[in-house]
Amino acid sequence: MATTGSGTDTHCPYCSLQCGMRLGAHMADTVGTADEAHGGVAVLERPEFPVNRGALCGKGRTSAELLTSASRLTAPLVRDRRGGPLREATWGEALDRVAGGLTDVAERFGRDAVGVFGGGGLTNEKAYLLGKFARVVLGTANIDYNGRFCMSSAASANRAAFGLDRGLPFPLADIAHAGCVILVGANPAETMPPALRYFRELRENGGRLIVVDPRRTRTAEMADLHLRPVPGTDLALALGLLHLVIADRHVDEAFVAARTTGFEQARAVAMAHWPERAEQLTGVPVQLMRQAVEMFAGAATGMVLTARGSEQHSKGTDTVGAWINLCLATGKAGRPGSGYGCLTGQGNGQGGREHGQKADQLPGYRSLTDPAARAHVARVWGVDPATLPGPGRSAYELLDTLGQDGGVRALLLMGSNPVVSAPRAAHVTRRLRALDLLVVSDLVLSETAALADVVLPSAQWAEETGTMTNLEGRVILRQAALAPPEGVRTDLRVLRELATRLGADKGFPEDPEEVFGELRRASAGGQADYAGISYRRIRAEDGVFWPCPDEDHPGTPRLFLDRFATPDGRARFAAVPHRPAAEEPDADFPLYLTTGRVVGHYQSGAQTRRVPELAAAAPGPFVELHPRLAGRLGVAEGDLLAVTSRRGRAVAPARVTDTIRPDTVFMPFHWGGTGRANSLTNPALDPTSKMPEFKVCAVRVEKAVRVEKEVR
Ligand code: SF4
Repeated sequence: MATTGSGTDTHCPYCSLQCGMRLGAHMADTVGTADEAHGGVAVLERPEFPVNRGALCGKGRTSAELLTSASRLTAPLVRDRRGGPLREATWGEALDRVAGGLTDVAERFGRDAVGVFGGGGLTNEKAYLLGKFARVVLGTANIDYNGRFCMSSAASANRAAFGLDRGLPFPLADIAHAGCVILVGANPAETMPPALRYFRELRENGGRLIVVDPRRTRTAEMADLHLRPVPGTDLALALGLLHLVIADRHVDEAFVAARTTGFEQARAVAMAHWPERAEQLTGVPVQLMRQAVEMFAGAATGMVLTARGSEQHSKGTDTVGAWINLCLATGKAGRPGSGYGCLTGQGNGQGGREHGQKADQLPGYRSLTDPAARAHVARVWGVDPATLPGPGRSAYELLDTLGQDGGVRALLLMGSNPVVSAPRAAHVTRRLRALDLLVVSDLVLSETAALADVVLPSAQWAEETGTMTNLEGRVILRQAALAPPEGVRTDLRVLRELATRLGADKGFPEDPEEVFGELRRASAGGQADYAGISYRRIRAEDGVFWPCPDEDHPGTPRLFLDRFATPDGRARFAAVPHRPAAEEPDADFPLYLTTGRVVGHYQSGAQTRRVPELAAAAPGPFVELHPRLAGRLGVAEGDLLAVTSRRGRAVAPARVTDTIRPDTVFMPFHWGGTGRANSLTNPALDPTSKMPEFKVCAVRVEKAVRVEKEVR
């Protein structure tokens, strides 16, 4: 991989597949719509990159359009007074204002009153430096990031079961060679279409695909078997399946004895969840459960892959643990072609949770409470370990206390748009407004940036170099193809300039390769060990899988083949009983709401809603409901619906379809304003991962008479 005469090899700015692409000006090969108007950058295929093999979805194909979009920011903005307008400012004025404001709040309320909120789309270098900035320069415990909303329950279940959290413990291409794959709460047909090829190849190779999803999605339509549990009951379903595995003698006794612990406790819990009870809770007939068990247990190899559908729950960690149990009981883990994996969502969802922007973590996936880890990282940073703060509040807990006594009063936010993406979003918006100082670095005036006191215009993916870690644990390199426009700066430069203003003259380089060099040293010896990974190797090898402890190490595409990463080398079963969702339907709120994505948009939509082709294909939110429910409510396609939960209200047109359960409505979460799905969602947190329960809450649906004033 290199910058060649025909273009610059790089990766898509959006999801965790991190599709390889080439940026160039050779219009004959152009797959996107970029032209001279986009800084001379065209999106070209890069078929030799092994993950997507040249394929791109519409988001990747059109990604260059945002480079010169009229909506991008090209000068810092400041607000002179609360409620006043944003005006353009020089970088000097804006950064002085930020440094002064952060200092003032720290002096008045203490260092922990200054908070930092990062994102799962930031490069490894940015995530690393942001964590160092928070702990060394600001001295605050309060840093967390929006990845807490995405993959954290899978991460905590992975660590509990295997002692290590990497999304997939094998390359994505291994899916094609498994005997059976159970895909739980994942819809790659909408979220990462180029990955679908591996599921097609799986079936062409004679493997079976089972999809677990309350909706009959495009992914579910290609499955051999589709199980449609009531939202919030995946854990009960996994327990029912494990019960059948045990009762029908499908347990791989030799594997369980040799490579696991805790089976007896998990078995006792599963035996209390007999299939008829699981059917009662989930709505999935016993006969279909038995079919699923026969397919999965009967295959020589098998995988369970989860995504947000099973993870974004107040019991997400336990739910993922129950799916991992199924792999362990049937001997489908730690072997070629088998294992549990999480299909990470955000572009750097994996790397973003490894290098220190999480509230409880230091680089290399080290724990902030481990004295040896603190000493190692403090040595790399040249500080006394005693000066490093302890763990801070998790993402929603941090947002929930903004502007309050004892909470964060000044917030620096990079790469996130919580006004749209946080649960109970109207409340979070009020909390953001209550801050003494809100600083947002973004490339466009997102809904959150629009509330800020200072907005810093940041460079885009094609304008800065940095590494990302894709859903497989493959560290890849996004290479800059052009310079940022006049007036725009990289986040690394912003951190350096702020650090200097706040008294740290050294330790914050703006050259990404230099930052990566330090990250390698900080991660050395940790679980996510990048010590042997260099930009040179990534270019030469199309990415390197961590752990990679030294330059002679080949990287680790497949984990756990000899032992799991627990102290005794054995995987641990989770003894986890079913429990209901934090909020179940009742007389006032009789329906389930579940939320998700559409193919044209990414996350809060701040970027993709500004790409004309994507905006035209998916112009706004909608409420998906079953024809029977529509009939009962007297609703026709396109009628405006008001959806109300205990936290708020959203209004959007009806989309009537029999692909959804009659007791459930679905809304995509990419929009703010009146149709904001997260006005409704429940911030009930998983006790371990602190992930909010985005995927299920109770709502009431009525015909709306008008589009209501935007709920802010
Ligand atoms: Fe690939 Fe995801 Fe980008 Fe689509 S959004 S091109 S699937 S990385």
